[in-house]
Amino acid sequence: MQLDATAPRVLVGDDAQPLAGHPPGLRTLFFAEMWERFSYYGMRAILVLFMVTPVAQGGLGFSTVDAASLYGTYTMLVYMASVGGGLIADRFLGAARSVFVGGIIIACGHFSMAAHSLTFFYTGLGLIVIGTGLLKPNISTMVGSLYAPGDPRRDSGFSLFYMGINIGAVMAPLVCGWLAESSTFKDWLAARGFNPAYSWHWGFAAAGVGMLVGLAVFARNRARLPSAGPTGRISEAATPQPPLTRNEMMRIVAITILFAFTIMFWSAYEQKGASLNLFARDLVERSLFGWDFPASWLQSLTPLYVILLAPIFARLWIGMGDRQPTSSRKFALGLFAIGIAMFLLVPASALTADGKISPMWLVAVYFFDVVGELLVSPVGLSMVTRLSPAKIVGLMMGAWFFATSLGNKLAGYFSGFFVANDPGALMRLYGGIAVMLMVGSFVLALAAKKIDRMAEAKD
Ligand code: GLN
Repeated sequence: MQLDATAPRVLVGDDAQPLAGHPPGLRTLFFAEMWERFSYYGMRAILVLFMVTPVAQGGLGFSTVDAASLYGTYTMLVYMASVGGGLIADRFLGAARSVFVGGIIIACGHFSMAAHSLTFFYTGLGLIVIGTGLLKPNISTMVGSLYAPGDPRRDSGFSLFYMGINIGAVMAPLVCGWLAESSTFKDWLAARGFNPAYSWHWGFAAAGVGMLVGLAVFARNRARLPSAGPTGRISEAATPQPPLTRNEMMRIVAITILFAFTIMFWSAYEQKGASLNLFARDLVERSLFGWDFPASWLQSLTPLYVILLAPIFARLWIGMGDRQPTSSRKFALGLFAIGIAMFLLVPASALTADGKISPMWLVAVYFFDVVGELLVSPVGLSMVTRLSPAKIVGLMMGAWFFATSLGNKLAGYFSGFFVANDPGALMRLYGGIAVMLMVGSFVLALAAKKIDRMAEAKD
C-alpha cells in the first residue's frame, strides 16, 4: 500500500495512481468509504454521551435506559436500511448513483444534528439511516465489480477496503470526540463568544464535513468507477427462476443458523458505543501526562486493533490452508474470544467500587473484542458470497446485515442496564453477557460438524 508517500493528498484519494496494483477505482472507493465511516463512527462515538449529558451542559438529559434504547434502535435501523438500499440500487438507481445520493443525505443528517434542537436531532438520525442504507451496501458492491470473475486480487482488494473503513474509524473519535468533550475546545469556543455547552454540535458538524470530503472524492473520480446503471435485476426477477435445489436449501439453513449466532456477537461488540462509552466516561482513569483525554477516544482502539491484527489473521489462514477451522468453528472461537472480553469486565467492574480503574482494562477488553471480530465479520462476509446460491446472494447479504442490526438493538437493550455507581449491577450485566457468549460458543462448537456438513452440500 502506498499510504506513506503522499500524506495529505492520500487522505482525499485525489490521485490517478492505482492503489497497490489494484484497479484505479479502488483508491476512490477506499477513500470515499474511509470518510463515510469517519462520519458514522465520529458521530456514534459521542451520540450516547450527548444524550445522557444534562440539558444544562448542552446534552439532551436522557436517562441511560432511553439513550441506550435509542442508540440500539438507531444502529439497528442503519443496518436494516442496507437491505432496502441494496434493492434500490439493483432495481432503480444503480450502485454509483445510490452511493452519491446516500452520501448527500448522510451529510445533511450530520449537519442537521449540528443544530441545537431535538427535532433536528431526530431528523438527522433519520437522514443518516436512509443515507447509510443507500451508501454502505452499494459501495461494497462497487468494490466487487472492479474485479472480473476469478481475478485473484479480489480478496486483497476487500482487505484494503476494510483497512480504509478502519482508518476512518480510528480518526473519527479523535476529532469529533475532542471537539465535543475536551475542555480545550470548550475554552476556545467561550473565548470566541460561542456557547461552550454546544461543543457537541461541533463534533456532529465535523462528522458532516468528513462526509463532504468523501463525496468530493467520489464525485471527482467517478469517471474511473465501474459503470453506474442498475443491473436490470427487475427483468430477471420477472423471468421465472428455477426453484432452489435441496442442497442449496441446506446451505441456506446452515448460513441462517450461523447468522443467529452473530446476533449474540454484535450484541456484545456494540457495547463499545453505548455502555462501555459510559463506562469509559465515569469509571476509567483518563489522564495522560496530566491531561484528561475524552472518553470517546477509547473508541479508536478497536479499529486500530483491526488494522494491526487483520494482516496477521489473513496470513494465518493462508498459512494454515486446508487445515484452517471451518466458518462455524471460527464463529465459535469468535464468540469465545469476545466472551473473554466480557468476562474481563467483571473484575474491572468490581474494582470500580474503590474508584476509577486503569484504561488498560479497556485496552485488554477491546483486544479480545477485535480477535472475535476478525473471527466473525470477514469470515461471515466471505462465507455469504461463497455458499449462497448465486441468484440470491444479494438477499443473503441483506440477511447478514439484518442479523447485525438485531445484534445492535440488543446491544442497546443490554446497555440500558448500565449503572455507573453500582459495581454489582455492572458485574451482573457483563457477567450475564459473558455467560451467554460462552454458552453460545459451546453450543456452536458442538453443532459445528452438523452445520459444516449442511454447508458443504454440493449439487
Ligand atoms: N466495522 C465494520 C464497518 O463499519 C463492520 C461493521 C459491521 O458489520 N457491524 O463497516
